[in-house]
Amino acid sequence: MDHKSPETTNDAPPSPRRVPAVAPSSYAHALLLLLLALALNGCQNGNQANNNAQGNAASATPSATATTATQTANAFDGERAFAHVRRMVEIGARPAGSAELARTREYLSGELEAAGLKVTADEFTAQTPGGARRMVNLTAELTGESTDVIIVASHYDTKPFKEFRFVGANDGGSSTGALVEIARAVAASGRKPRFTYQFVFFDGEEAFCLEWEQCTNAGAPDNTYGSRHYVAQLAERGETKRVRAMILLDMIGYTNLSIPRETYSTPWLVDAIWTTARELGHAAQFPNTQQTVEDDHLPFLQAEIPVVDLIQLSDYSYWHTAGDTLDKISPRSLQIVGETVVASLPRIEQRLSR
Ligand SMILES: [Zn+2]
Repeated sequence: MDHKSPETTNDAPPSPRRVPAVAPSSYAHALLLLLLALALNGCQNGNQANNNAQGNAASATPSATATTATQTANAFDGERAFAHVRRMVEIGARPAGSAELARTREYLSGELEAAGLKVTADEFTAQTPGGARRMVNLTAELTGESTDVIIVASHYDTKPFKEFRFVGANDGGSSTGALVEIARAVAASGRKPRFTYQFVFFDGEEAFCLEWEQCTNAGAPDNTYGSRHYVAQLAERGETKRVRAMILLDMIGYTNLSIPRETYSTPWLVDAIWTTARELGHAAQFPNTQQTVEDDHLPFLQAEIPVVDLIQLSDYSYWHTAGDTLDKISPRSLQIVGETVVASLPRIEQRLSR
């Protein structure tokens, strides 16, 4: 089953969890960009410092945004993020409702509280194809000048597999480790943010059945349990309008990092992050290729909240296999995504304040 490779993206996949796709009209263009991205990536691996210097030189025009971006970016530490992922992988497979996920949650709460964030756990019962399951969304909050909210999120569960041990180093692990470090970095920056931040760890993103929509009945999807619950809670409390943007991380740690633009995502929010990535010299890892992915951002999009999903799916061949292990991800990739997200936040705040 290899519906994720770029060669097959125009075929209808059997019924994948997610549907990577390149628009046919822009396929040749996208392929060219992909090749360019790979070439640049190879160049960067060979000469990291030089490439970074070129990237910085390219954006050396004095600009308050760029300066702020660089300064803020320094706070994120990819090694710290990687250590969180290692700890999660050591705990083991952590499907929704498992003792391992409860231990993961304890670890995450401890780290977030140590960083000075207010952590709340929202426990709920989800009706799944495997019966009723207890799930818990974790939210770490950092109060800003406004009560309006920017959410940065990741799922922290792993997909349940009976056939093999699945620890999800990249799928669930990388984004969660990065999110803990993003939360710490933003809280430690000394800057009281213009908006209130909620760093949200979703339970139950993964389908219980093998395929993403295999066991979905009308109005009852077998996936995104945590994010759908989160949005339902927002609506119940009348707080949907307070959430101004949602940034989702999912599978962002691969050693050969390349994150296409996700096509459900809100264009201005994608642009804010891709522009920042270029300023920081990470254009090769944030190419202008496209993919379409169903993920935890969709319930927020349905609630008319601007969203962006940072995910490398189509060329991550270890996706949902026993091979999604710690050796497939790197502190460097976590650093690139983490510092880009942190440095994008002032730009996103600025855009929302217009
Ligand atoms: Zn997954």
